[in-house]
Amino acid sequence: MSEEAVVFSATDLALSARGEGPLKALHPPARLAIFGDPVAHSASPPMQNAALTARGVEAQYVRIRVTPEELPNALRNLAPAGFLGASLTIPHKQKAIPLVDHLDDRAEILGAINTVRIQDGMTHGHNTDAPGFAAAIREDFGIPLRDLRVLILGGAGGAGRAITVQCALEGCPSITIANRNRAKGDTLAAKIHKTLGKEIHSIPLESGEIRNALASADLIINATPLGMKTGDPPPLPEGLLESRHLVYDTVYSGGETALLRQARLAGARSANGFSMLLHQGVLQNALWFGEPVPVEKMRAAL
Ligand code: NAP
Repeated sequence: MSEEAVVFSATDLALSARGEGPLKALHPPARLAIFGDPVAHSASPPMQNAALTARGVEAQYVRIRVTPEELPNALRNLAPAGFLGASLTIPHKQKAIPLVDHLDDRAEILGAINTVRIQDGMTHGHNTDAPGFAAAIREDFGIPLRDLRVLILGGAGGAGRAITVQCALEGCPSITIANRNRAKGDTLAAKIHKTLGKEIHSIPLESGEIRNALASADLIINATPLGMKTGDPPPLPEGLLESRHLVYDTVYSGGETALLRQARLAGARSANGFSMLLHQGVLQNALWFGEPVPVEKMRAAL
């Protein structure tokens, strides 16, 4: 079995908290993990292990399959098992909010945690998905997110919500979310207006309003899963992109998605979700170990 395919269980973590079991037998010792269900596919272990090696830290980052029912105890077992923290992925990001001892401001506004840091035996919840997206836009297009008028397709989903809130926090001059379920988009827009005082336009994804939204947007972001599977249709009708648009597809499954193909045919600049994946991991690494982060080693490992 390859290193990438090894998946530990929440029971292994509980045993480790008592000084027993397969996690305790690892060398170098397991000190970081990703909790998810499923978790075997995660790209985070090679990326974070490359950073640990580059930093000369005698520790490893492992995959632990944790179900929603197991999450409260898994979080409680991190400190006694000697862990420095953990990454959280599907389906835990929202469920972990009431389970940590401390929550930072961004995670609170987002209602989602992707990073747990142990300090003095306590669990601290953070969210690096949102600032990771801003770092990705700056790297891929060389323009600060705060200067761009944005249209977020699937803006009320998990990733879309993080992106929408980050755009609001940065003060983007115009923010439109186009969600398949219009009511979800409207609810998010109202919540952001109430908490951050920022106006968000909410439109249905499949509507004539998309044409107007595109006309007044600089950056178009796909935060729907369309493009993850070969043969998926694009999230936008054909022929609407212009060469002046910047197009960011959060999908990072490799290959050219239908949206990226549309961008290429329109002569628009585009990028895929690889950079967001990298930068959320870089920011996690900084939370656990501080600056500077070995970014290029992490990029190469991805
Ligand atoms: P999610 O929470 O399930 O949200 C999915 C969003 O897409 C919702 O707004 C949903 O609309 C919409 N949607 C789903 N199927 C659709 C369809 N067939 N047509 C139109 N809209 C559709 O999923 P997620 O976890 O946010 O993931 C969304 C995408 O983000 C995925 O492609 C994932 O790969 C990507 N992602 C990338 C990164 C990265 O680091 N690059 C990180 C996280 C996620 P409704 O509200 O109407 O259901």
